[in-house]
Amino acid sequence: MNLPVVIAVRDLRIWYRSPDLTPVLNGINLEIEPGEFVALQGPSGCGKSTLALALLNALPENAQRSGEVLRFGTIMAPVFQEASGALHPMLSVGRQVMEALRARRSLSRSERLRQAHAALESVGLDPHRYFDSWPHQLSGGEKQRALIAQAIVGSPDLVIADEPTASLDPVTREAIVILLRDLRTRMGLAMLWITHSALLIRDFDGRVLTMREGIVHDRAS
Ligand code: ADP
Repeated sequence: MNLPVVIAVRDLRIWYRSPDLTPVLNGINLEIEPGEFVALQGPSGCGKSTLALALLNALPENAQRSGEVLRFGTIMAPVFQEASGALHPMLSVGRQVMEALRARRSLSRSERLRQAHAALESVGLDPHRYFDSWPHQLSGGEKQRALIAQAIVGSPDLVIADEPTASLDPVTREAIVILLRDLRTRMGLAMLWITHSALLIRDFDGRVLTMREGIVHDRAS
């Protein structure tokens, strides 16, 4: 099916009860097209992660919202900020990728195995070496790659990468940025890249949005 947009957000407003209602998002309008590369930049605390959670339908219980979030495809978001915590310590890397796929699609075991191998391969983790590895055997950069494999297995329509490189050293950070760009080009998936760092998106080849005071602006505006 050819989707005109993968997600459409209309006048989204969010408040947190903490304990009074505090406004965080003040009327967001946003559409992302299939295959589109979008960066969302703004200072810490301006509401970027709240928007990501709303797109994923994963807002915390003390959030109140109005407006619409219309999803037309599969949306995945690797949890980058605590890569160690996001991987199950008692499941091998390959099994975790298979489980991520099982949660999304009903496929035979052999097909899940095949797609898990392909996902590991495409993030630069040789499946012959890494499929049976345990999370504690991986470096920080390899853990990020394993999380990305979980997110892209089964080719979702949109990947949300919230501060994908926050916890990494500069060399690993560069490698992960290159990998995400490369995956997006190779797989044609749409990507929403969230960051507080203007530096990370300085030569970004997609649409750049900025968030200020709970509203999203085009960089030009
Ligand atoms: P960003 O991702 O841009 O750093 P967040 O969306 O994480 O911003 O946070 C926006 C604001 O909402 C911040 O002031 C933060 O403290 C507050 N906030 C985030 N999550 C909650 C929550 N569960 N309850 C109350 N306030 C929250």
